[in-house]
Amino acid sequence: MINENIDRTVSILPDERLERVPAWGGASYSLSHVYRPTTIEQLQAVLKLARKNGRSIGLRGGGNSYGDAAMNAENILLDMRRMNRILAWEPENGRITVEPGVTISQLWQYILEDGWWPPVVTGTMMTTVGGCAGMNVHGKNAYQAGPIGDHILAFDMLLANGDIITCSRDENSDIFHAAIGGMGILGIFTAITMQMKRVYSGLLDVETETRPNLAAMFSYFEENLENSDYIVGWMDAFAKGDALGRGDVHKASYLPPGADPAPSQTMRLENQHLPSTMFGIVPKSIIWLGMRPFMNNPGTWLINNAKYHAGRLFGPKRSRQPHAAFHFLLDYVPDWKKAYGAGGLIQYQPFIPKETAQDAFREILQLCQTRRLPNYLTVFKRHRPDDFLLTHALDGYSMAMDFRITKRNRERIVNLAREMDEIVLQANGRFYFAKDSVLRRETAVAYLGQSVIDQFRALKQRLDPDNLLQTNLWRRVFG
Ligand SMILES: Cc1cc2nc3c(=O)[nH]c(=O)nc-3n(C[C@H](O)[C@H](O)[C@H](O)COP(=O)(O)OP(=O)(O)OC[C@H]3O[C@@H](n4cnc5c(N)ncnc54)[C@H](O)[C@@H]3O)c2cc1C
Repeated sequence: MINENIDRTVSILPDERLERVPAWGGASYSLSHVYRPTTIEQLQAVLKLARKNGRSIGLRGGGNSYGDAAMNAENILLDMRRMNRILAWEPENGRITVEPGVTISQLWQYILEDGWWPPVVTGTMMTTVGGCAGMNVHGKNAYQAGPIGDHILAFDMLLANGDIITCSRDENSDIFHAAIGGMGILGIFTAITMQMKRVYSGLLDVETETRPNLAAMFSYFEENLENSDYIVGWMDAFAKGDALGRGDVHKASYLPPGADPAPSQTMRLENQHLPSTMFGIVPKSIIWLGMRPFMNNPGTWLINNAKYHAGRLFGPKRSRQPHAAFHFLLDYVPDWKKAYGAGGLIQYQPFIPKETAQDAFREILQLCQTRRLPNYLTVFKRHRPDDFLLTHALDGYSMAMDFRITKRNRERIVNLAREMDEIVLQANGRFYFAKDSVLRRETAVAYLGQSVIDQFRALKQRLDPDNLLQTNLWRRVFG
């Protein structure tokens, strides 16, 4: 997948723009001419430049998609992070309009002291609002709040011909429902208006406990959907037999008005920030180095076991945690992906209806063990359906699995993914482009359905007939 062969004889784009751009997981790279515009006029100039040079344009936000969704080999890549202004904020009703490069980190820090929190956040705060809309991301509250698209009121989108259109549920509704989750293929979001969520404290009520197996994991979710705002499960993918699918669950709820005696204090930013050292002494920036020796099958077996048994030993815990600490656990250890080594990692996250999920996940976990390719980190979430055209969500569960990639196992992991694809399709499941590196065209047709793909292609033909907007993912899966 490493793609370094650019034909310089046909390139008249400046060489100093050439950059080696990684997939977030570091398992593949592309060479692209990278532009970082700050205004709509600059975006329009890049559109013209691409046409003149016969090149396509890929869009990139924070580059946090695990695979090739924000890459465009041997063509132009628009890095949108410098278009990061807050355009309008109405603290009385929680409506905000932002440029697409505003990060989730910027967003929550801007609104929290006014008593608001983003209704949907990702497991890292490094993502941009444009990239989150491009993938229609979900949070640990997906079963309650749906994906981010359910909270987007309207957006402005720059089309390949240089025009800007406004889309909402009432205006250009077909484009609204296809461009959210549309992988940056229909147009470039230039402004996004969203409804934020009112909060009455900077803290969440958090409960943690262990679950002894997969059935207990599922029953915990089903029993707590009504009485919680967020639930996430972590699973030990090494556990076998009766313990298969064991792990921890973390449940959180917003505090009602009056429950926090000092909300203006807890909502202050200095009371949200993640600590800069671990145990008060180890700088966070070097923790990944300490993780590296454990990033192999025996090492992660040990860590997964220790984590599960420590949870059992200490028993259920209840505490109040700052929003940022609960949501952005993965940001505690900067660059943790480096611990996976030079080959990086890929993630595989299937979504399966609640009726078939337990059997399918059992089969997938067993298959990984049989193939001796256990996934090192496994995260379990509950979802609800939505009305976006290329949605990954459904009334069921997802299981996100991180696999370390090495020269020796790369092909075996791809073969394993093919086998897992079959299980997911049999169970009427779906896939998620933000996490994907390996999906094949026929698998996408099988789960999305040809008519959905035809609808998306018809919009693409209408909005971008010359196919100016493309990514590696788009070419790989939709061709
Ligand atoms: C540690 C970690 C935790 C994560 N946790 C979650 C999670 O909890 N839930 C979840 O759903 N995902 C999660 N993700 C995946 C991530 O949230 C998505 O991939 C998200 O899309 C990344 O946002 P980004 O700004 O980095 O966008 P990128 O990855 O750069 O781009 C994402 C897509 O958006 C398109 N795009 C970017 N900007 C624009 C624009 N202005 N207009 C139109 N299209 C655009 C790109 O072309 C691309 O297709 C996680 C990723 C990581 C690395």
